[in-house]
Amino acid sequence: NKMGKLYIGTNTKMYMNISQTTDFLTKLHGLTLDISRKNMELFVIPSYTALNSARKSVPKESISLGAQNMCWEDRGQFTGEISPLMLKEIGVQIVQIGHSERRLIFKETDVEENKKVLCALRHNFTPLLCIGETIEQKEKGISDEILKIQIKMGLDKVTPEQAKNIWIAYEPVWAIGVDGIPASKEYANEKHKVIKDTLIELFGETLGRNIPVLYGGSVNNQNAADLIQMPYIDGLFIGRSAWDADNFNIIIRNV
Ligand code: PEP
Repeated sequence: NKMGKLYIGTNTKMYMNISQTTDFLTKLHGLTLDISRKNMELFVIPSYTALNSARKSVPKESISLGAQNMCWEDRGQFTGEISPLMLKEIGVQIVQIGHSERRLIFKETDVEENKKVLCALRHNFTPLLCIGETIEQKEKGISDEILKIQIKMGLDKVTPEQAKNIWIAYEPVWAIGVDGIPASKEYANEKHKVIKDTLIELFGETLGRNIPVLYGGSVNNQNAADLIQMPYIDGLFIGRSAWDADNFNIIIRNV
């Protein structure tokens, strides 16, 4: 593959409790013991309450763990928020930022996503910044502009040195979830190129090209292999199809 390593992971959203998460992780770890982590980075992003048990249930070299969200402040009067220090304490490596459900249901803005990205970098987490156009934006023909805005706003003030730690997930909103229609591999690849070009504009040729860009939105056993063989797609960010460890393992074996 293009960068020598594939990035494959899942966000369990608000579905799995502690025991469901640790059962899932233990099974996934067992099923993927023979897979070289040099060639594939596997990651899981459980709910906050399951994170601590999740970290203890599998080695971090086997499956990287992420949080679904994070506050941009270390501490203070922010009732209901989770701070980077709390996530550090658990041993979380990745922080997912700006999932479309955060942006659309909880009205998070690009300015807030940027604060979270900068905070995550300051604490040596890998920010997984999620971007993607809605169906209305796609129909108006402004998808590329939206992606560029989400990247340039979301990564504002990120230094080239810090850019080495960032991952991007391209998740067209119309492709996500039960009502979603997966993007065709050609469409996804075209948008990934727009994203890579924007990252190159921001951070230069080498750094920009090396930022992993993962595709997400109704990835399944049928389309995973086709998507991953596209030149600009560096990994897959999966919802529903990865929540069963056996099924996730099939996808992992297919790519
Ligand atoms: C997601 O919500 O990030 C996602 C990719 O979900 P699904 O694969 O279920 O469409």
